[in-house]
Amino acid sequence: MTQLVWFRNDLRVADNAALTAACKQQQPVQACFIVTPAQWQEHDWSPARVQFVLDHANALSEELAKLGIPLSFMTATTFAESVEKLEKFCRRESIRHVHFNEEYGVNERRRDKAVKHTLDDIGVAVNKYRDQTVAPVGTILTQQGEPYSVFTPFSRRWRSWVDEAQPTLFPVPKPVGEPVKPLYYEGLPKCFDNPPPRLVETGEDAAHQQLEQFLDDHGGDYKDLRDLPSVDGTSQLSPYLANGVLSGKQCLIAARQQQGMGGNQEGLATWTNEIAWRDFYINILYHYPRISMHRAFKPETEALQWNTPGENFEAWKSGNTGIPIVDAAMRQLNQTGWMHNRLRMITAMFLTKNLFIDWRLGEAYFMSKLVDGFLASNNGGWQWSASTGTDAAPYFRVFNPATQSERFDPDGEFIRKYVPEIAKLDNKRIHQPWAGGVIPGGYPRPIVDLKESRKEAISKFQALKN
Ligand code: FAD
Repeated sequence: MTQLVWFRNDLRVADNAALTAACKQQQPVQACFIVTPAQWQEHDWSPARVQFVLDHANALSEELAKLGIPLSFMTATTFAESVEKLEKFCRRESIRHVHFNEEYGVNERRRDKAVKHTLDDIGVAVNKYRDQTVAPVGTILTQQGEPYSVFTPFSRRWRSWVDEAQPTLFPVPKPVGEPVKPLYYEGLPKCFDNPPPRLVETGEDAAHQQLEQFLDDHGGDYKDLRDLPSVDGTSQLSPYLANGVLSGKQCLIAARQQQGMGGNQEGLATWTNEIAWRDFYINILYHYPRISMHRAFKPETEALQWNTPGENFEAWKSGNTGIPIVDAAMRQLNQTGWMHNRLRMITAMFLTKNLFIDWRLGEAYFMSKLVDGFLASNNGGWQWSASTGTDAAPYFRVFNPATQSERFDPDGEFIRKYVPEIAKLDNKRIHQPWAGGVIPGGYPRPIVDLKESRKEAISKFQALKN
């Protein structure tokens, strides 16, 4: 009886619950990956992400081939069609057990329900695993058994769960047969434009090397460097984590090992806290499915009357708002498919608070550009910035982008890289070129008054309370 592993958001052979379970049966194992271009478009996937996923599905195919597991590619336009394709595949290959790791977006859950229903009907057993987070999704709950809606208490509980459970990794399974010839998916689906140059190397080995290198070089000073966009102070592992080439558990265990070897405790603990953020947002997505249907986490904020996007939205997207740190960040996103976390917060707050443009538009734009686009974290980050989400801080905490710029890019190094028009301004003026003197190089004046727009946004949030 052949076992089938259906790979989706878990493109790795190490520490993979579904693959491990399938290989334990001592029976032939096959694998499949379904390319769903129209569905990916509907979910605003960027060309960079599509390329990353296909590169890694091909790399996975090679790793599986060494284990004697052929990976077959199928193409279905949408998730609905992928159910039919999977059924046909199971019939054709006499599959009796299908294994997969759960995903938590609403459409993914609907697809998986339909798959279970369809495969049950033809006598194929469906085996699902909770493998996306360090602590299985849904296990970190308050004493009353409720989901957490604020990060800090969640992270406290998460850390004590980790200390008690001492999670371990699933090793790469032993070969189930002789090596086979790997199959590949060629090219990029036509509906996606050319992606920017690849941000990171392809493959699980490359991901692990990057993890080790980061922990050695910067794990210890992460706390001091993580907010400086001009420095490589963060891991840039997000594309691997977003697409399951690395698991959060692998990152956590590697960081804890480094701590055990005497690495800087504070820096490494701060970094593992980011893995807790990732798990927090995945849990939010799991417990509150409305957030993947374009709904606000805080329902009362649905009444906000956002401004019509128009020209201001276009200026924000292209990095021409006249606020250097915002423009540099947006150009980094457009040119590389990645943006530094501090800048994601600054640009998202600028869009939603200063321009008062709906967070949903920003969320979709980020998704359409990011190589690490990940629904749970992207939605979480956007709703946090827009004060419609899980943020414990009040809505009147609005970043001033110019002040943030002075603080986190003090010499303007990052701005100079992406906004060459104003590169010659001194370290003070580069943050606010409009403050005195002529603005050089055709660089625009700010499209909005930072102080006035902040006040207006606060009053709109205040009005919700009355
Ligand atoms: P590191 O600082 O090295 O952190 C390690 C890992 O922890 C990251 O790779 C990521 O998996 C996780 N992580 C770090 N910060 C967060 C966070 N705040 N929330 C959730 N997980 C986190 N992250 C995505 O992976 N995909 C997204 O689509 C995404 N969109 C975002 C949108 C907004 C508006 C904001 C404010 C944040 C968003 N983030 C997103 C979170 C964060 O910005 C990125 O994970 C981080 O910048 C990735 O860089 P890194 O790998 O160097 O992170």
